[in-house]
Amino acid sequence: MSITENAIASAEAHSAHNYHPLPVVIATAEGAWMTDVEGRRYLDMLAGYSALNFGHGNRRLLDAARAQLDRVTLTSRAFHHDRFADFCTRLAELCGMESVLPMNTGAEAVETAVKTARKWGYRVKGVPDGMAKIIVAANNFHGRTTTIVSFSTDPEAREDFGPYTPGFEIVPYGDLTALREAMTENTVAVLMEPIQGEAGVLVPPPGYLPGVRELTRERDVLFIADEIQSGLGRTGKTFACEHEGVVPDMYLLGKALGGGVVPVSAVVSSREVLGVFRPGEHGSTFGGNPLACAVALEVVAMLRTGEFQQRAAELGEHLHQELGLLVGGGAVEEVRGRGLWAGVDIAPALGTGREISKKLMERGVLVKDTHGSTIRIAPPLVISKEDLDWGLEQLRGVLRH
Ligand SMILES: *Cc1c(COP(=O)(O)O)cnc(C)c1O
Repeated sequence: MSITENAIASAEAHSAHNYHPLPVVIATAEGAWMTDVEGRRYLDMLAGYSALNFGHGNRRLLDAARAQLDRVTLTSRAFHHDRFADFCTRLAELCGMESVLPMNTGAEAVETAVKTARKWGYRVKGVPDGMAKIIVAANNFHGRTTTIVSFSTDPEAREDFGPYTPGFEIVPYGDLTALREAMTENTVAVLMEPIQGEAGVLVPPPGYLPGVRELTRERDVLFIADEIQSGLGRTGKTFACEHEGVVPDMYLLGKALGGGVVPVSAVVSSREVLGVFRPGEHGSTFGGNPLACAVALEVVAMLRTGEFQQRAAELGEHLHQELGLLVGGGAVEEVRGRGLWAGVDIAPALGTGREISKKLMERGVLVKDTHGSTIRIAPPLVISKEDLDWGLEQLRGVLRH
């Protein structure tokens, strides 16, 4: 057995099989490149589902982490620490909002948003106790907790995990009429991804997000934008909502917020909305810890200049131009996305998304398939144009054979 085969067999023997990774075992990484245990190099075109927007081993982020490691890493929220105020202030500023509630994982940010919206509904909007409803979109991905899978439409994510949490209404994504009809006086929030990532990088029809904004404002309903994957530079703007000129009531952030170093997530909203919480009503031992705040503070500082957003916009235009040329030739059926983020539907005759991903791996490019024959391309925003072009050449190579 090779070193790789050995490592995989031993991982499979001693871990739950809740993932089906490509047969590659990474040992080190830098920038947009990863190296496996046998010294082979791969271009990372997944970037940890956008957690690695700033690349592997980013100097600024590692320096910020190292400096904080030597000071203090954890206090719990039982005490104040000297990174917390800066982190909350700067992140709120970046979002154009007032208040931040830090958590760790994306799923926790979503859970926090659900609790916030319900409490806001009862205390501010005046919804009768226990009646609050949250509207979500079909084919959503918001995480893996029991409540979140309760409003998933993906059988794989849901099956055998019931009983399910009530209080959610599912409408087709992109359909304003359906959303309007689903709203009642007990609707407290609409929770949506401005671009559906796991569904295959689905961009809603133009006018949809502004329509959601208008409807939610009219009906006194919170518009919660899950920007955990789409936010923080990926689409060529700080937030995907900006492409449609939309400002939601609440941003959910995660993934890139931790710079690929530590898990950091946050709910960002107004003082009124997040003001529903009183001490003891919600929290997390690790949420807003000093190490997380130090790294995320650096992430926010990097985003403040706009350089990463601009890079994603420019390279993204190039990416979509090149991918667009592949459509119609028989191999690629459709390409969607914004900025450095693309969902590519490969003709099923050429193989499943998994088979295509494996062939790309053999050529030194790592991507992840999603439903059926779709692969998603989302390299770190620090990728060079030359490397991006090389990666695209490998994709063309796979599609030719
Ligand atoms: C990844 C993701 C989540 C969940 O984040 P975790 O950190 O994996 O819990 C939620 N929403 C969206 C849109 C995501 O892409």
